[in-house]
Amino acid sequence: MAGARTLAIIKPDAFSAGKAGKIIAHLEGQGFAVRAARVMRLTQAQAEEFYAVHRERPFYRSLVTFMTSGPCMPLVLEKANAVTAYRDAIGATDPADAKPGTVRKLFAESKERNAVHGSDSDENAEREARFFFSDAELLAAR
Ligand code: GDP
Repeated sequence: MAGARTLAIIKPDAFSAGKAGKIIAHLEGQGFAVRAARVMRLTQAQAEEFYAVHRERPFYRSLVTFMTSGPCMPLVLEKANAVTAYRDAIGATDPADAKPGTVRKLFAESKERNAVHGSDSDENAEREARFFFSDAELLAAR
């Protein structure tokens, strides 16, 4: 089912504020199905690896500190054209720019503390799902 799944993370700002249930309910209401989920606290090494593409950006250290500041909730979500549909559902990186009704407009605090992550391509969705979930968990989700 190419294109049917994406990797989301409910980030530490939203998780620690007790917004995980509301965000998942909001996404389920838009037709996303949760196929894998866990609660974990990223280690520094994991956060650095996950965001390695941003290594040279000025916000990289701050982002790693934020993402390791408390528990987060990686999720595999399923829907037709999942990557695009989910990016549309979460809205722009900065909640100030996000459209009304998007997850980031509704639940995010700032450009960095922006409630959720979403993969930006099918290839990255697959790679990021494997970063958090075992083969057995991903197979069980099919
Ligand atoms: P996304 O795909 O919308 O999550 O955005 P990016 O891949 O460009 O950035 C990854 C994450 O880095 C974002 O979700 C934010 O948490 C953080 N971030 C992006 N841009 C900035 C910025 O200009 N300043 C800070 N402090 N954080 C940022």
